[in-house]
Formats: sequence, structure tokens, C-alpha cells
Amino acid sequence: MAKNRPYFDPVDLKVNFPEMEKQLLVEWGKKGIVKKYLNRNKRSKRYFSFLDGPITANNPMGVHHAWGRTYKDLWQRFKNMQGFRQRFQNGFDCQGLWVEVEVEKELGFKNKKDIEEFGVAKFVELCKERVKKYSGIQTEQSKRLGYFMDWDNSYYTLSDDNNYMIWHFLKVCNDLGWIYKGNDVVAWCPRCETAISEHEILTEDYKEVTHESAFLSFPLVGQKDEYMLAWTTTPWTIPANIALAIDADLEYSLIEAGKKKYWVAKAAKDRVFAGVKAKELKTTRGSKLVGLRYRGAFDDLPAIKKGSAKNDKFHTVVTTDSLIMPINTEEGTGVVHTSTGTGAEDHRFGKKIGLPVVAAIDDAANYLQGFGFLTGKNAKKDPNLILDYLRNFEGGNYLFKTMNYTHRYPSCWRCKSELVWKVTDEWYIAMDRPGRKVANDLAGMKFEKWKDGEDVVKPPPDTRTLRERMRGVAEKINWIPGFGLDREMDWLTNMHDWLISKKNRYWGLALPIWECKKCHNFEVIGSKEELKEKAVEGWKGFAGKSPHKPQIDAVKIKCSKCGNIMSRIEPVGNPWLDAGIVPFSTISENNKACGFEITKTKPLYLSDRETWQKWFPADFITESFPGQFKNWFYSLIAMSTVLTDMNPFKTVLGFGTLTGEDGRPMHKSWGNSIEFNEGAGKIGADVMRWMYARQNPAENMPFGYKVADETRRRFHLKLWNVYNFFVTYANLDSWVPSSPRKPGKPGNILDRWILLRLSQTGALVTESLEKFDPVGATGEIEKFVDDLSLWYIRRSRDRVGPAKESENDSNAFYSTTYYILATLCKLLAPFTPFLADVMYTNLTKNDSVHLADWPHFAEASRGKPLDDQNLVFEMQKIREIIEKVHASRKELGIPVRQPLKKLQITNYKLQIGELKKLLLDELNIKEVLFKEGKGEMVIELDTKITPELKEEADVRELVRSIQGERRNLGLNLAQQVDVTLESIPENKALLEWMTKKAQIASLKKGKFKVTKHA
Ligand SMILES: [Zn+2]
Ligand SMILES: [Zn+2]
Repeated sequence: MAKNRPYFDPVDLKVNFPEMEKQLLVEWGKKGIVKKYLNRNKRSKRYFSFLDGPITANNPMGVHHAWGRTYKDLWQRFKNMQGFRQRFQNGFDCQGLWVEVEVEKELGFKNKKDIEEFGVAKFVELCKERVKKYSGIQTEQSKRLGYFMDWDNSYYTLSDDNNYMIWHFLKVCNDLGWIYKGNDVVAWCPRCETAISEHEILTEDYKEVTHESAFLSFPLVGQKDEYMLAWTTTPWTIPANIALAIDADLEYSLIEAGKKKYWVAKAAKDRVFAGVKAKELKTTRGSKLVGLRYRGAFDDLPAIKKGSAKNDKFHTVVTTDSLIMPINTEEGTGVVHTSTGTGAEDHRFGKKIGLPVVAAIDDAANYLQGFGFLTGKNAKKDPNLILDYLRNFEGGNYLFKTMNYTHRYPSCWRCKSELVWKVTDEWYIAMDRPGRKVANDLAGMKFEKWKDGEDVVKPPPDTRTLRERMRGVAEKINWIPGFGLDREMDWLTNMHDWLISKKNRYWGLALPIWECKKCHNFEVIGSKEELKEKAVEGWKGFAGKSPHKPQIDAVKIKCSKCGNIMSRIEPVGNPWLDAGIVPFSTISENNKACGFEITKTKPLYLSDRETWQKWFPADFITESFPGQFKNWFYSLIAMSTVLTDMNPFKTVLGFGTLTGEDGRPMHKSWGNSIEFNEGAGKIGADVMRWMYARQNPAENMPFGYKVADETRRRFHLKLWNVYNFFVTYANLDSWVPSSPRKPGKPGNILDRWILLRLSQTGALVTESLEKFDPVGATGEIEKFVDDLSLWYIRRSRDRVGPAKESENDSNAFYSTTYYILATLCKLLAPFTPFLADVMYTNLTKNDSVHLADWPHFAEASRGKPLDDQNLVFEMQKIREIIEKVHASRKELGIPVRQPLKKLQITNYKLQIGELKKLLLDELNIKEVLFKEGKGEMVIELDTKITPELKEEADVRELVRSIQGERRNLGLNLAQQVDVTLESIPENKALLEWMTKKAQIASLKKGKFKVTKHA
């Protein structure tokens, strides 16, 4: 053996996992492993359809992106090993504010004027370039994670295929009667100068801010020194005040303070007048105040005069509608400043009771024409613009007091500017309009039986609303965790119509709506071909270009009603349209459609509906859920509902948010965020993946280097040590595997036990993965590795190496452990692809574990033979006994190397005799007695140490010292030594044992010394 290379490459005990992974990536490339992996089930009849939620290709990845990517890779690998045919297509989200804002930053732009001056075409080109750059970086980072995908054929939402498929969707919506232009007050970013749909305002976009709030006193007409007292946190809206709303059923008090009298809710008076000398004059129900007229400080502004003319509800006290604008008395005064042009609820309420609407600000939040001294000034910049005016106007008659107020206020999800609310025309998809009857021959609409028997598309006329249809579809989905369904249904119940337009933006889906300026007719175009057919102007210049701004806007069509020439509307689309359409746009022959560059391949949804249906609905998607109920899950369901009335995916695994180790959200400025490359370099992909896989997806996950080190130590290194033990001794004993098959019924009870545990573990891991439960699967594997390391290997140490007792038994150990490790590598392949492959290829000499089949295990739930069950049970039992005895020895101060004569166990009797020897060996006790009885198990140690027992302990101590010296001399396990001892043991058997155990070639009396035997 010494001259030949060992059969197994020696294991590096000081392994650097991240370095090992990098080398393996090179190796995989050389051997073409990824390609072989992707193609291994090309001919399979069984499909597993995974649909990737596109990652925004706008920046390098952070470690948080690796959480979802770990799941995505895990299940695709698992299904691949099981023999399912898959698509392995990654997606990049490319269009929208995400990218625009970063490019603006790069160019140092302050607002949209800068973009116009720079040139829209050039700007859009830079957005595309940015996407290309970062999709490339993210691809490399994903490969570093060990993520096996068809990286040459990722889909891009900027592609023509994707954009035109959205056109198709919008056209069908319009055919159903659901597309409309609405005039409403919406959330608005004054920097991006565009509407922020309610989908885009997520909990995390609210930040805690302090605003100067104002208590406003509105003098009542015809009541001397009487005022209505109202409160607002947004002073910029005061000029646009239209009415004051009260709750008719609430009690209001008239409070005298100084020379003035104020109406406030009775329940609010003590708080509002705290520290002020005030007297309650009378109390009345709110309904008594309704109809009172009041004056405002801005009544003379031309815009207000014009807007309020001929409306007798203007500047009166009105009754609120508590469903739209409930009034509470915990804050404010119980009198609500109502501004129909600057508040969403105010607008809805005003519409209902017939209040006038006065718009106050333009797209950049500057006051409009007609606002006198305010016109052209920014409303959001400084509240003192308004407050200082009120302090001075008529001696401060309209301002009672101001107060700093801290609250959570929404900001733009992209640029972080505080939002405002303003009146604007936007485009919507209606949630509550009955579907219009659709003719059968409509482009793209096929009503046919679906492959799943129960999912029959409803034939027309199906007059249900989109909301009704979507709720039905959402219920068909398997939501993990289960609360996902409630969250989605909650959103589907409460959301308003889907705002799909984004004004004043450049890089995004060009909404395919052409509108007639003359008769207000509009038309939705469903495809490039349809546009070409209808184009009356500009087609030549556009042909061959992508359907983006500015080139698309050159194409004009004719109004079917009045014959006027129509232009496309200005806005781009809501970005979630881009990601929601992907089940329809991205599924194609060899993943060739939807590429960054245009190909001839078309989406199967258009070219071959039957083949498309093999992949639809997707079996599985997984994304971090906090935002997705409103975003990706929503848009997937909406678009699939409109086009097929089917659920777009069968199962969704949602997971929480990654936080720093301190539990706080990751932020660069807090020093707890980790970039992906840095994380992968320090932690290693396998350790990172294992951390994610063992995390409960329903909870947020603290992530950092401490947790990583702990994970590596407790799992990866433990396994690595087992692997090292096997390889080291197998090489030493020149053991070579003869057959990869499972060993027959082993003679050694330890082997029998660990094989049983393996098949139990394998079955449970398989079951957990089938249920998309990563925690169950990793938990079983960890338990198994513990059993393997802390018990099986620990009790097998004497079975191998020079001191082994039997050749047969040592061979049994090797073939068992070999089989165990090789099988375990397959179980681990989806979780820790690097570690699993390094071990597997060294053990089996096969190309890669990633080309192997998933091992087959009898179902865990099915009954095992009784003696197998007993063995697992009793092995557990003796380990409990051992734990108790070790604890007891520790308490008594008797080390394990001191043999003891007897152990008595009461109330338990071991059934399997062979386990007795294991027990005694581990405990270093000569004899065990069992006494049956009922009650808790009790152990009792005979602690008398006879001279014989003392001598045995001394010899063990000697062996320990000699082994220590061997290590100091750097001797390998087979190397013999010459030993000099101060006294040589007299007991023949002990002497023999010592000689063998410590590999002693010669023994002399003298001063203790160990030397290498020549
Ligand atoms: Zn913004
Ligand atoms: Zn017209």
C-alpha cells in the first residue's frame, strides 16, 4: 500500500470549504456536469414545472437573495434526481422605476426634466445596459451558490415576447369590459412624478417621521367667536380644504378658552385643551352641527373660488361616512379637515355626498395656478409656508396651535421620498365589474377542458367579476405556510381597482392603449401584428425595434368611432404586469423565447397550447412573501384568472425576511448587511444553504457570521470528521469497495442499526421534500449525522486499524460506512451540492452525485419488522442509560477510563442481548444486571475499586500517554513504536491488549520513552 496511491484521496482535516467550492466549480465546468444535469431527464414523461419569480437585475445580490435561491435549487435538484423533466429557467425582472432611479443616480439627475434633456431614447438604452450588466453579475453569483440552471437561456421581462404577451392580456381584459380610465386621488411620488399604486406601498415603505401638525380654527358664519376646531398632519393640504366632517352620533362640546369658543368632540376636549384654561359651555350631538357654514383662510384664492362655485356643501359641516372615513377621538379633535383633491378617502367620501374637488398640486407637488402666492412653490418642502401664513393672517385667527407629531408615513418604495396624494387620471383594471360576454373566436381565448379534470374553464357567458374569479382561483392553491391564503384573500377582499398606469416614466411596458383626443374612445392593442395592421402612421420607423418608449409612440392608429388619428397614451405600465405574465410568456421550446436578444422561438402559449399545458399550472413557486401577496402572487393570479380561470401555480412556499444577527433589518449603515460575494467567500455556499434550509420559512431569519460558524461546526465539520475517519482507516487497511450495493444482513448489531437509521432517515427526508418542508428534511439529516458521528463511529473505533479484532468485522464496518456515506451524499446533494459531490466522487469514483438517482427508501410510515423497530428503540434506550451513567461518574469523580465492576438497572430490561456488550464497552463496566419492575428507570453503580480494576485503569492511562507520544512524533496509525516504561504491567491479558492497541514493537523497563520502531 505504501508505494501505491491510496484508493481514496486523503481528506484534508483543516478543510477550507469556500476554497474547496471554488475548485469544484472549475471541475464541474471542465467535466460539463451542469449540462449533463440539465439534460438527464430530457426524455422523461413526468414533468415538474418550477416557475422562477424574476429577480430585479439592478444591483449585485445580497445574502438575502440566496435564501430563495437555495429553495429553488433544492427542489429542482430533488426532482431532477427523481427523474422529472424540468425547464430550469431563471428570470430577470428588467423594467420599471427600480432601474430608472439607479440610472438617474448614476447620471446625477434630479428630476424628469433632466431625463428629457438627456434624451429619452438614450436614457432607455442606459436602462437596458444596466439590466444586462447586473443580470450578468447575478448569474455569476448564482453559480457561486451552486445553483444549477439553464443560465444561457434566462428570461428577461424586457423582451418583446414578454411585453407583447402583456398586451394580449390587457386586450382580453378590455374585451371583458374591465379596462377604464378613472379620475381619482392616488398616492404619488413627487420626485419620480408618478402614481404609486396601492400594490407598491408595503409595510416596510412606511417610515417613522415627525411632522408639524396643526390645530385649525375655522370661524363659523353667523356665530360670534365660535369656531370648529380641526386637526391635520399635512398642513400643505389646508388651502384645499372643502368641508369639515363630524360623526353625527358622537357628542361634541363647545369649549370656552380665552375669548373664543371651540367645537370639539367631548372625548377629545381634555387632551386638546390640556394646559389651557378652558370651560365647557355645552354639549350636543354631532348631528346638530351639520350644515353649519364656516370660513377658511384661503377662500379668496381664485382656484378655491372657481372650484367651489355653485356648490352649497362647500365649507359646511358634514356627516362622515364611517365606512370610508371613520372618525376616532384618540387623536385630533373629532372634526376632520376634508380635502377632496388631496386625500384618497376624502375624495371617495366627497364623491359620495357631492363635494366639489379642488386639485392643489402638480406632478412635482408644486401648487397649481390659481393658488396666489403659493403657486409654483413646493407643497412638501416646508410646512411653514402654510403655517407662517396662518400665524399672521388675521392675527392668527385660523390657527389654534401646532404640535410635533410622530407617525408612520409612507414613502416611495424606490426613491424613499415621502408620498403625497393628488387628483389624477389613471388607467385601471376593474375588480368589481361583471365580465362582459366574450365571443368564442376572440384572439387567444380558448375555452376548453383543462388537463386537471376539476379545473374546467367556465364557458362564456361568465359574468363574474375579476374579484370573484380571483378569489376562486386563490383558493385552489396550496399555500405554505397556511396563513398565506388568508393574507391573499384579505388583500383580494379589500384592494381597490388595479392601477396599472405610471405617468411621466420612461423605462417600462408601453401600455398598449391608443386614445382618441376628440371623442375619448380608446382601443387596446393585443399584439405586434394587430398594431401593424391598424397602424396608419409611423410603422416603418418602428418596425424591428422593441415596443418601448420613445419609438413606440411614433405609431398612430385611426379611431374606429370618429376616424380621428389616435396616439398611444403617455404612461408606462405597473411593473407587476411584467412579472405576472411569465407563466404565459416564458414557457417555450428550449427556453428560447423571452431572451435578452430577440429569437424566432415563440412562447408555447401562442404556438402550441397543448405542450404549454404540460407546464401549466406550475407545480411550485417560492418567494419571500411579505410584499408578494400584493405583488407577484397577486399579478400571477390576476393574469392567469383573466386568461384561463386557472391557478397559475399549485404550491407556493413563502418565506420570511432576512435580518442581521441582531434581529434588525439589514442595512448598510448599521453594519449588519452582507453582500453575497463577501458572504459566500467567508461562509461558503454549502453552509449558507444549510442555514437557509434548516430555517423555519414562516419566521424571519437572523443571519450572520456567528450563526454560520456554529452551523459549520455542528453539521458540516461533524460529517467531515466521519468522512475523514472512514477514508483514513480504509486506506490504512487497504480496503477497496467491491460493490456499491447495500450490504446484506450484517452480523454486527451496530451496522444493522445504522442501516436501519439510514433508511428511516431517507424515507422521512423524501416525505418532507415531497411536502415542501425543508425544516423536516434537514432536521432528520442532522439527527442522522449525530447518530452516525456520536454513536456509530464512536463505537466502531476499535473495529478498524491495526488494533482491530477481526478482519471480517472490519470489512463489515467499511462496506456499511461506505454505503451509508455514499447514500447520505445523495440525500445531501440538493442541500449542500459541493460537500456532497466532493465526498461522493472520492468515494465512488463516479462523475458527480448530481447525475445520480434519488435513492429509494421504503416509506417511513409503513411498518418495519418488529425486531427492527425494537433495535432502534433499544439503541435509543441504552444511549439514555449511558448518558445517566456518565453523569453519575462525573458527579462521583470516577473517570470513564477507570473500569467498574457492576451496574444495576431497575425497572428496565434489555431485550436484545447484543446491545449489552455495546453498553458495557462504552461505560467501561464489567457486568450489568437488570431488575424488572414498574416506575422510572433507576441506575446504581458499584463504585468499589479493587486492585485489579485499578491496574486496568493504569494500563489505559499508559496507552493514552503512548498514543500522545505517537502523535507528537507524527507517526501514522500503522507505524510501530519502541517503548520504555517505568513499570511493566503484570497482568498478561492487559499487557497483550496494550501492545496491540498502542502498536508496540518492543517494551523495556526504564524512564518513560517512546521512539519510532526502525
Ligand atoms: Zn420616488
Ligand atoms: Zn374618436
